[in-house]
Amino acid sequence: MVEATRDVVVLGAGIAGAALAEHLSRRSLSVTVVDPRTPAAGASGRAAGIVTEQLWNEWDVRVARETREEYRALAAASDPDAFSDAPFVRLTANPDVAAGLLDALTRLRGWGVAVEEVHADQLRTWFPNGRFDRLKRAIASKSDACVTPSSITALYLASARARGAAVAYGAAVETPHFEGDRWVVESGATTIRCRALVVAAGAWSKRLLAELGSPLPLTPYRTQAAVLRPPKLAPTGIGVSVHDLDTDVYARPEANGRILAGDGTERVESDPERFVQGADGSFLAHIAESLGSWFPDWESSDVVGAWAGVCTATPDRRPCIGPLRSDRELYVITGFNGFGVMRSGGAARRLAELIAEPTSPTARAALEPVLPERFHGRADPFPPRPGFTLEGGDVPRF
Ligand SMILES: Cc1cc2nc3c(=O)[nH]c(=O)nc-3n(C[C@H](O)[C@H](O)[C@H](O)COP(=O)(O)OP(=O)(O)OC[C@H]3O[C@@H](n4cnc5c(N)ncnc54)[C@H](O)[C@@H]3O)c2cc1C
Repeated sequence: MVEATRDVVVLGAGIAGAALAEHLSRRSLSVTVVDPRTPAAGASGRAAGIVTEQLWNEWDVRVARETREEYRALAAASDPDAFSDAPFVRLTANPDVAAGLLDALTRLRGWGVAVEEVHADQLRTWFPNGRFDRLKRAIASKSDACVTPSSITALYLASARARGAAVAYGAAVETPHFEGDRWVVESGATTIRCRALVVAAGAWSKRLLAELGSPLPLTPYRTQAAVLRPPKLAPTGIGVSVHDLDTDVYARPEANGRILAGDGTERVESDPERFVQGADGSFLAHIAESLGSWFPDWESSDVVGAWAGVCTATPDRRPCIGPLRSDRELYVITGFNGFGVMRSGGAARRLAELIAEPTSPTARAALEPVLPERFHGRADPFPPRPGFTLEGGDVPRF
């Protein structure tokens, strides 16, 4: 039996837990990341890796921008292929959605996002084989990016390790308990006592938090992606990500002229322990039809690989990041609603600041819109809401 004492144990070695470990160890806190699987075995190893500022509120925009620059620096230092600049285009053939897209343009600009309307001639320079006669409106944010989420997770963990953090994975993790003034975490043959415990367990967080007596309203849901090889695309491929608002299908550049395509949110709950890990035939038909309506060549793409992963929804689509019970220093970072890659770096930095200084009003204010206390301990069931699509109502949001 190995015994260890740490300031913080982070449960979960996905991109959020890995980023948090890095930011905690930068603040000279001793930290162990514990995961019963391998790093990025959950949603982070299955994500598309689009990083965009076309988001839902100003907090998101600031956090995504910071995250992108952090990923850029991490990748530049040791894995340049893990990051590439890629403008993000959203388009529609629906006049009602086009009107909402104009509202979004104004709103996003109000938050300092460099986004502009683009017309068919610009789209043709990005996608020479595209067909845009149905186009009603498109907007593009040119400072966006694509990353390889598993590589970014590995880079964070390597950097955290270099600062003294430990990563324990591949052994069963018992539900932690509180003893005296410390949390006790048992992973395989190791027992770790720590002052602060952080749940960063992605779709598994719902069950884990309930077991810890601090439930949150979280709904795990399945979403799918596929790597496609279009028949006529040049080996350099596309340099731009695109999202069809009418079908909720997106595509981003991949290496060797391929594209990575996916669709949005499945509106029913999934169990991260037993979900269908492969892609459905109906999903592949849906992305082929949707992408084929704008890029006819892509409809007959070869499917190089296809898979599903489980994300975590919250009722208001904002993540849950912050303290759950201050008497025991229990924290959470989850509920990214399918947008956790693009927000993990900045979100983790903010949480690390609060863990380093739990009474700091500034650190708390930096997490105000996402503090879990907004749910007042309620964990009622709810259906996940779509990620990128236009919703009706007084304030249409994407
Ligand atoms: C197909 C797909 C496409 C996506 N595309 C994008 C995208 O383009 N851009 C974007 O921003 N986001 C995207 N996402 C969402 C993104 O993947 C997630 O929001 C993000 O990876 C969540 O990271 P995480 O660290 O919170 O969770 P995860 O990566 O799921 O990590 C959770 C970890 O916790 C571990 N764990 C479970 N139980 C325990 C326990 N008891 N103790 C300790 N550890 C435990 C798991 O083994 C896992 O490794 C996509 C997701 C999918 C599935």
